[in-house]
Amino acid sequence: MAIASVNPATGETLKTFSSFDGAEIEKRLGRAEGAFRNYRRTTLTERAELLHAVSELLFQEKETFAQIITLEMGKLLRDSVAEIEKCARGCRFYAENGGRFLEEEPAQTDAAESYVEYQPLGPVLAVMPWNFPFWQVFRFAAPALIAGNVGLLKHASNVPQCALAIEEIFCRAGFEKGVFQTLLIEPEQVEPLIIDPRVKAVTVTGSEKAGAAIASAAAREIKKSVLELGGSDAFIVMPSADFESALNTAVKARTINTGQSCIAAKRFIIADEIHEKFLQQFVERMRSLKIGDPTDPDTELGPLATEHILQGVDHQVQKTIAAGARLLTGGNRIQSQGFFYEPTVLVDVPKDSPAYHEEVFGPVASVFRVGDIHAAIDLANDTAFGLGSSAWTKDRGEKKLFASELEAGMVFINAMVASDPRLPFGGVKRSGFGRELGAAGIREFTNTKTIWIS
Ligand code: NAP
Repeated sequence: MAIASVNPATGETLKTFSSFDGAEIEKRLGRAEGAFRNYRRTTLTERAELLHAVSELLFQEKETFAQIITLEMGKLLRDSVAEIEKCARGCRFYAENGGRFLEEEPAQTDAAESYVEYQPLGPVLAVMPWNFPFWQVFRFAAPALIAGNVGLLKHASNVPQCALAIEEIFCRAGFEKGVFQTLLIEPEQVEPLIIDPRVKAVTVTGSEKAGAAIASAAAREIKKSVLELGGSDAFIVMPSADFESALNTAVKARTINTGQSCIAAKRFIIADEIHEKFLQQFVERMRSLKIGDPTDPDTELGPLATEHILQGVDHQVQKTIAAGARLLTGGNRIQSQGFFYEPTVLVDVPKDSPAYHEEVFGPVASVFRVGDIHAAIDLANDTAFGLGSSAWTKDRGEKKLFASELEAGMVFINAMVASDPRLPFGGVKRSGFGRELGAAGIREFTNTKTIWIS
């Protein structure tokens, strides 16, 4: 796919970019290696000051960066501003807590002294998606850099201006050139980078296909990889739940970022007793969302990010209907400029249809009816994915059962699944492995070194 900024609200190509050639990549790899030699010797206090400077810059210029996000991938402008603020808070969090997570850990052994220390690995390659084009990058970069690593970013081909802006932010904040660099490259140029001995590890946020290809290449080189892949999160509502709160959150959880979030709720599993009431009101709310220009403050649902994604979502919906599902609202492209798709609700979704077993990356909800909590858990777990799950109940026993039995990296009770720097983020099953954020995230790209002194 060509590297280009295309405005999803209009379909207009704004700017195209050539991918870096071998010489440019070589220059940047050499710079990364050189920067790491110095940077790994900096103190945690020095690194924390630099990350604080990044945080300040993000806060000060949030409107400018938000415009770039909205222009390139169509996010509602207010959500783009919120994304930049989240990046700023994430940087501040690791500036304040990184040292604590990386402290030496003494161990009582037979040695005179023994402890564990966390050392950086070196240049880490980050292959990132377009859906949260700043946050996905910062949630990798803040912990990786505070730990003393340096970063190389291969961003998605539809957000090159975000990628270049992020590199510039790190430079302007005072990081040595080479500590964080963007590589404008095609997917085929990733494997040679993984093979390059200067690159020590790789992290991917994206589809299963990309994750499998990159992790295979990393495994052949015996290099560490972290995979943050797709999800088909369940959103379960039990009879005792706060109905209004569950309903409001359900709409938000399915339509946030026009449904293009790995942790968006995609399958709604509703207890028999409240199913009819929930379904009727959910359809009404989805149908009445105001769709349009993402820069208009009244808009509630913006465009999908690309024509390709729109066609993919529509194909999944039409195939699911052809397999026997009933369409309660939506199911069509909106005939205007840009990549707009109607909010869609499906019921009676057959087991062998795309909406049942694939990830649908758009504003399309599948609603299911279940008899009891055991059926709800079985249905929620009947997926190849295992990223997040949201369950709504006031019953203490049910809360515990959901927490222990849902096969997911993250279970949120009476709340929407969300990332938070204070907690690890990641999935199980085909949603990937490894964690970002929290203390677990910072340690992924460190050498957990055992020291024994007799
Ligand atoms: P994608 O097609 O896999 O792209 C993600 C990144 O991987 C892009 O930079 C892409 O480059 C690159 N890429 C694709 N194929 C590659 C290959 N064979 N070798 C090397 N690089 C390759 O994913 P997407 O459709 O843009 O993003 C949506 C997916 O990401 C969804 O499945 C979503 O659930 C997942 N996601 C997961 C998380 C999480 O934390 N678990 C968060 C956000 C999104 P090009 O753009 O140049 O193709």
